[in-house]
Amino acid sequence: MLLGCIADDFTGATDLANMLVRGGMRTVQTIGIPAPGTIIDADAVVVSLKSRTTPAADAIAESLAACRWLRAAGAQQIFFKYCSTFDSTERGNIGPVADALMTELGCDFTIACPAFPENARSVYRGYLFVGDLLLNESGMEKHPLTPMTDANLVRVLQSQTTRRVGLARCDTVTAGAKALSARFDALRAEGFGMAIVDALSDADLHTIGAACAQMPLVTGGSGIAIGLPANFQQQGLLKDTGHASALPRIDGPALIISGSCSKATNAQVGEWSRSRPALRIDPFALHRGEPVVEQALVWARERIAREPVLIYATSTPEEVAAVQKALGVEAAGALIEDALASIASALVRDGVRKLISAGGETSGAVVKALGVRSMRVGPQIDPGVPWMVARRELAAGEGQGAGADIALALKSGNFGATDFFAKALAMLDAA
Ligand code: ADP
Repeated sequence: MLLGCIADDFTGATDLANMLVRGGMRTVQTIGIPAPGTIIDADAVVVSLKSRTTPAADAIAESLAACRWLRAAGAQQIFFKYCSTFDSTERGNIGPVADALMTELGCDFTIACPAFPENARSVYRGYLFVGDLLLNESGMEKHPLTPMTDANLVRVLQSQTTRRVGLARCDTVTAGAKALSARFDALRAEGFGMAIVDALSDADLHTIGAACAQMPLVTGGSGIAIGLPANFQQQGLLKDTGHASALPRIDGPALIISGSCSKATNAQVGEWSRSRPALRIDPFALHRGEPVVEQALVWARERIAREPVLIYATSTPEEVAAVQKALGVEAAGALIEDALASIASALVRDGVRKLISAGGETSGAVVKALGVRSMRVGPQIDPGVPWMVARRELAAGEGQGAGADIALALKSGNFGATDFFAKALAMLDAA
């Protein structure tokens, strides 16, 4: 392993892994920290944690454990990945985790750069923009868990760490990797421990990547990952970059599960349902205790050997509001997630080998129910959503003959074109 990554949430980890694969690194995403001694054959491993909004002490402990596992598995550089909108609570966790990782790695200087120009996140003179808006005017100031009320990242990060936080400005970045490295050296000599780095374009991210080649720890959004694979190539450590997205061929029945109610998913479910088998789960029937899961399984089992089927709870905002009003937001969410996850795991036990899941929370529940521990990341279906191959833990009674590998596509809310489901399945058939 060359690059060891620690991501503070699950979908962010997939996003990062997808970037690294596009950069030519064979990448595996793990869910949580693998058991000691687990061997993973990959150029990069992304350990996904759920540490964005947990108490800082917990985030530190988990991140350090992930770092130790990655280093024991051979990682030469550690990358701490957070959201491209620098999502943090008042207490952290970006600063405290970066601090702890620096101490662990004996590193006296690192950078922080959430910029992701492809997704309209840019940093200019230390201020984070979302499109044309400052972070604190972008809607992020109202986020329920991580309200971002200040766009000045030097100030935000400084409030989370005792190390001095400086700035490497865009004029230095545009001057090239040598100039930027010199700026890092100057900041370090002046007693700064971290620097926010400006970035407005992918070219800037490549420059930043090159300037970070020798840093034991790099921190940033997934955009920064654009510039990191080239360092390993230049050192002669990453040779075969042409096959990073290759996955083993998976054949077998296909299932689509959708619990996302975002606009894009509503359109995708509508498009699929026009001509392909689709079954809607009724939250009220679930709440009444009707055998909704069992009925869905009967319906699916009659069809799935012949053609892919969709089972969904996806609804319009008005329908969702009505359900939430009657059942409560969290209770409704959990009830539906549990039902969809049970359906997915029962059908996978039956022999489903290709699974598309729409919805961030929904996918979290599905992956948990399947007992998936790690996923090899393959080709991109639509921006930010790759096919992955997951190795499941076999449940008691399942023989090896059942085959433990399944192709997985986990699509959060607004990702993907209208024909996403059909397009994703066609990609596997063509492979
Ligand atoms: P997204 O990625 O689009 O945000 P998530 O799966 O993260 O999707 O979140 C959608 C949430 O809405 C889940 O908790 C899901 O169980 C819930 N949900 C799905 N369908 C309905 C519905 N018809 N009414 C109310 N809540 C729903």
